[in-house]
Amino acid sequence: MKFYSTNNKQLSVSFKDAVFNSLPRDRGLYMPLSIPKLNPNFIDNIHALSFQELALEVARAIIEDDIPSDDLKKIVDDTLSFDAPVVKLGDGSYVLELFHGPSLAFKDFGARFMSRIMAYFSQKNDVTLDVLVATSGDTGGAVALGFDGVPNTRVTILYPKGKVSPVQELQLCTNGGNIQAIEVDGTFDDCQDLVKKAFNDDDINKKLTLTSANSINISRLIPQSFYYFNAYRQLLQEGEKDIVFVVPSGNFGNLTAGLFAYKMGLPVKHFVAATNANDVVPRFLNGQSYEPQAAIQTISNAMDVGNPSNWSRILDLFGNDVDELKKLITAYSFNDDETHVAIEQIYQKDNYIACPHTAVAWLAAQRYRSEQPSDDAIVSLSTAHPCKFPDVFPETIRDNIEIPDTVNALKNKDQNKVKLSNSYDDFKAFLMTY
Ligand SMILES: *Cc1c(COP(=O)(O)O)cnc(C)c1O
Repeated sequence: MKFYSTNNKQLSVSFKDAVFNSLPRDRGLYMPLSIPKLNPNFIDNIHALSFQELALEVARAIIEDDIPSDDLKKIVDDTLSFDAPVVKLGDGSYVLELFHGPSLAFKDFGARFMSRIMAYFSQKNDVTLDVLVATSGDTGGAVALGFDGVPNTRVTILYPKGKVSPVQELQLCTNGGNIQAIEVDGTFDDCQDLVKKAFNDDDINKKLTLTSANSINISRLIPQSFYYFNAYRQLLQEGEKDIVFVVPSGNFGNLTAGLFAYKMGLPVKHFVAATNANDVVPRFLNGQSYEPQAAIQTISNAMDVGNPSNWSRILDLFGNDVDELKKLITAYSFNDDETHVAIEQIYQKDNYIACPHTAVAWLAAQRYRSEQPSDDAIVSLSTAHPCKFPDVFPETIRDNIEIPDTVNALKNKDQNKVKLSNSYDDFKAFLMTY
């Protein structure tokens, strides 16, 4: 499959180039030249497939022969080392739990797949790939854990001292030899500046093969469509076939992946995008003009995005026909007060602890059901484990959050981090020792 830039359909590159460049030079985003339609037999027989088997079919349809089937199978199997169960709540709605991976957030799917794709291509050229990432918490953990132990790769991850949660810091600092955590005495912006400078530094580029593992990389989106198919398979077993997915959204990558699945032939009746106060998309779909803004800080902070980078991909999928898009997608936004109340309600009614992002989706599910009453199955995507955001919960709920064994195990592992100032000279000197 070739990939084009949303800013220029004439320019098309190989899958490998789209993965390593992340962004086309014209600042568009890479998209598959066409969205392949899966054979209807695939959907009819999906109940007989495992998560890994159906994912391989989906991956093969998009990637085609850029990666031979046997190699792709290994990459898919390795990526999906954990499950994505659909859970039924007391109110009859469902949540699709996407947080059973190593960093306890859905970004594990994208990060694990991308790391293995990059390793596959760089292994063939026998180079070690150096991934540099700055993180404010969530993305960095998924990237670090995604590359943990992956051959021919080394990850250097910079995080601001004292500004990530305890679970997040453990996830960054307890990995194998190819992951190096750096605690920077500074802010997240300082970390980002250091990474940017390194990318533009000739001395470093002569010595290392750098890549950014950027969040808009096309290889992070492809595996996210797998779990929509897998959710459909599970819902069939519940006797459901009319399905509405509710997607808590920030950069809108997760929703884009759902739309890929739909365009490939997954029967989905409707999508609901749920945002916090960063409501540029809900306002647009409700008739106002599209106006990106500075991000507003909220308790569902992984969705604090004022200018969603994947929105142009979504428009592109609909050939910029906003009326068509509105037939399939509804969007709502909710504030922090409403989210706090929702967390209490879900806990009281269903004995279920939802992370703040999941709670925003649940609110949107409730609103959609009241505005469009039907028997459709409403499925809220649950994007992270609540233990990653302990400060959001009242004590009575926080005390009941079950800490996964994998997190408890991290507490006994050796911690490995390098402490640096926020000066570029120090960071460069450190990288030059590689
Ligand atoms: C990244 C993230 C989101 C937002 O996903 P997008 O693909 O950026 O829309 C939602 N919830 C959590 C927990 C996240 O980490």
